[in-house]
Amino acid sequence: PRSIVIVGGGLAAVHAVESLRDQEYAGRLTLVCREPHAPYERPPLSKGYLAGKDDRDAAFPHDAGWYRDNDVTLRLGEAATDLRLDERVVVLDSGESLGYDRLLVATGASPRTLQIPGIEKALTLRTIDDSERLKAAMAEGKRLAVIGGGWIGLEVAATAHQAGMEVVVLEAGGRPLGHLLGPVVADHVAAIHAKNGVEIRTGVQVEEVVDGGVRTADGMVAADLVLLAVGATPTSGLAEAAGLDVDGGIVVDERLQTSDPHVFAAGDVANAHNTALGQRLRVEHWDNAIRQGKLAGRTMLGLEGGYDWQPYFFTDQFDFSMEYVGRNAPDDEAVLRGDVDGGEYVAWWLRDGVVTAGMNVNIWDVNDRIRELVGTKVDPADLTDLR
Ligand code: FAD
Repeated sequence: PRSIVIVGGGLAAVHAVESLRDQEYAGRLTLVCREPHAPYERPPLSKGYLAGKDDRDAAFPHDAGWYRDNDVTLRLGEAATDLRLDERVVVLDSGESLGYDRLLVATGASPRTLQIPGIEKALTLRTIDDSERLKAAMAEGKRLAVIGGGWIGLEVAATAHQAGMEVVVLEAGGRPLGHLLGPVVADHVAAIHAKNGVEIRTGVQVEEVVDGGVRTADGMVAADLVLLAVGATPTSGLAEAAGLDVDGGIVVDERLQTSDPHVFAAGDVANAHNTALGQRLRVEHWDNAIRQGKLAGRTMLGLEGGYDWQPYFFTDQFDFSMEYVGRNAPDDEAVLRGDVDGGEYVAWWLRDGVVTAGMNVNIWDVNDRIRELVGTKVDPADLTDLR
């Protein structure tokens, strides 16, 4: 190819850029991003950056000079509004058209919303500007209500509580993270929040956001500040309107190629065929955006490579710091090994005797060994905390 355009400017995009230049792709390279910032890391936005501990620059893998040195044209603060597959053209909101030989769609995901009155009074968290807004509001607010007990909701709950706020998490399901980790492990996470003073209410039906709080089916929950954190949906409208195959994300094969051979997709927006798991998967994690970005950089050039790794994830909430690898179903058998009460353990998930996932909590340098065991049949008696 002589011209490659990347739509979206998150981690998948920047790793595709790095990978293309690493493979000595010498053609034109243009990155179009709706946000006015060069690509940056999102994990600190709910943790150290929100807490005011992390330096802003640390979130940016590269400064403007790096893009110049690598001959990457950054079109920041511009959105792609139309994609014409027949003409191999992407149209920007300014009306300008960019032609491409290969296009990477790395448009990520957007916060899911709720169709309830007053929802516009709640903040959401996806971008560095959102994090700034939340940080400023946190400093003023005394009591925070977080709607949604997912990863981002719980991370913000911990950060806000550590910043001196009173925090209540309003979870619709039976337990935060229950639909991901299953009851045994999810209860451990909830217990850490409770021990630290975060109030968690479950089975909550949120009906309205009002000045001064959240109205639920069971009554008012007072709050000075409300964060809506009920998950994210793939930003796939551009691809769908263009006629690409979209089904819970942009459908791509194990080489991240879409239903149009000139167009690829990577990161949170891609629903990709994972050969290690034998199924299509859309993963909303940092490691996946990096690896798929790198992979797309190769496959867009016709080089070898495929989506063949087990998903990886990490989080930090109070003294619960963990890495997770694999993919469990919530009703997989959970086997905990190590000092569970002391908060240093490995959780394993098994289905029909096969390890589907493992999570090391406050035990380090063991995740690669967990990865080796994922997908293999084990005798649960042989599982340890790997120390
Ligand atoms: P994104 O980072 O979403 O980037 C997509 C970019 O494309 C955005 O800038 C968007 O504005 C732009 N865009 C969209 N549409 C257009 C368009 N039409 N034209 C131009 N530009 C467009 N993962 C972990 O594993 N561990 C964590 O601890 C963790 N913490 C997180 C904390 C927060 C607050 C958030 C929001 C995410 C966290 N994640 C974490 C998830 C991780 O950050 C994402 O998986 C990753 O950012 C996905 O990268 P991406 O490049 O696919 O998409």
